[in-house]
Amino acid sequence: MSAREVPLVYSPPASRLVIPADAAPPAGPLGDTLGRPLHDLRISVTDRCNFRCGYCMPKQVFDKHHQFLPHGDLLSFEEITRLARVFVGLGVEKLRITGGEPTLRRGLESLIGMLAELRTPDGRALDLTLTTNGSTLVKKAAGLRDAGLKRLTVSLDGLDDAVFQRMNDVGFPVRDVLDGIAAAQAAGLGPVKVNMVVQRGVNDDQILPMARHFRHTGVVLRFIEYMDVGATNGWRMDEVLPSAELLQRLLQRHALEPMDPTVEGETAERWRYADGSGEIGLISSVTQAFCGGCNRARLSTEGRLFLCLFAGAGHDLRALLRSGVGDEQIAATIAGIWQRRADRYSELRGVAAPAPDVRRVEMHYIGG
Ligand code: SAM
Ligand code: SF4
Ligand code: SF4
Repeated sequence: MSAREVPLVYSPPASRLVIPADAAPPAGPLGDTLGRPLHDLRISVTDRCNFRCGYCMPKQVFDKHHQFLPHGDLLSFEEITRLARVFVGLGVEKLRITGGEPTLRRGLESLIGMLAELRTPDGRALDLTLTTNGSTLVKKAAGLRDAGLKRLTVSLDGLDDAVFQRMNDVGFPVRDVLDGIAAAQAAGLGPVKVNMVVQRGVNDDQILPMARHFRHTGVVLRFIEYMDVGATNGWRMDEVLPSAELLQRLLQRHALEPMDPTVEGETAERWRYADGSGEIGLISSVTQAFCGGCNRARLSTEGRLFLCLFAGAGHDLRALLRSGVGDEQIAATIAGIWQRRADRYSELRGVAAPAPDVRRVEMHYIGG
């Protein structure tokens, strides 16, 4: 198979599940082989999207012949909530709903409502958030807030309409995303974060206009290095604009000062405008790997658990759920999977050769 072909129904292989006979919950805090806790769960609720960003779902691959997962393969809202509850029992405090485009999943508000009810073992509410391309927010922001969503992140790769439409590749106008961001702010879903994936030669001329636009608005703009995730985007290192270079461009125009990280395992390096007019973040996934603090697990649309964005296979939790075992057994299985985790792909990138027969999971399937 050539690098730009994908099977009709995209579904990566599943690793063998080890279900411990003894379903006792792990004693003490759960850590992986590198001592990293399980803190953050990203839940993909659909593999479908109304955009075709070239770095994620290139149109020539994800065309009308591509078959998305059939509805019966998706985890139901009840199944997602049950798993989320188990994960929370194991230490997860943050849930991020993603996709594909999560707002395309019918009835998403009901799922948000169910997840918003969950509490940590000591009774605290979770940090419940969502990543969206913003295309539906004008209609949906208030309903999501009413359902219990606290805040959200919108992806936006430029302000110039020609650049943005070329990047989303479906002719979607910038104006509608900006209106969506305004709707999210008006609904109180703040502070809204905006993620911009930067590709050298494609949208790096949008860095300064984006910074100028979002300064003074309360929106936290975060620049993300273009990653080699998946197997379809034709990634090349020369299209990565290192954050260090991006920061130099910003510093030529703006006085910025570094901020201390607020949360352990935080992916963004935070900077604030010296005059107090806002904050930006740099996510240097390629040039400054942050695997050492990576406390994130990802649950795919069909219920596979992935321990790294660059994994080739996931653990089939849907099979486990549908086998009729109890929550304790599910918790013990997930704990065992996490305790065996050794993933640190970004740290090894360029140092160790990737396994030749491993096809990495696609971003729209696993969620960002
Ligand atoms: N559709 C939603 C959106 O775009 O926000 C949620 C899913 S999307 C896969 C999640 C995030 O992954 C987005 O912010 C997107 O820009 C980012 N992303 C996708 N492919 C990427 C890549 N190759 N490198 C860096 N970020 C990427
Ligand atoms: Fe869709 Fe988000 Fe991927 Fe763009 S980045 S194609 S909006 S899933
Ligand atoms: Fe985490 Fe894998 Fe990314 Fe490293 S490469 S930060 S382990 S998801």
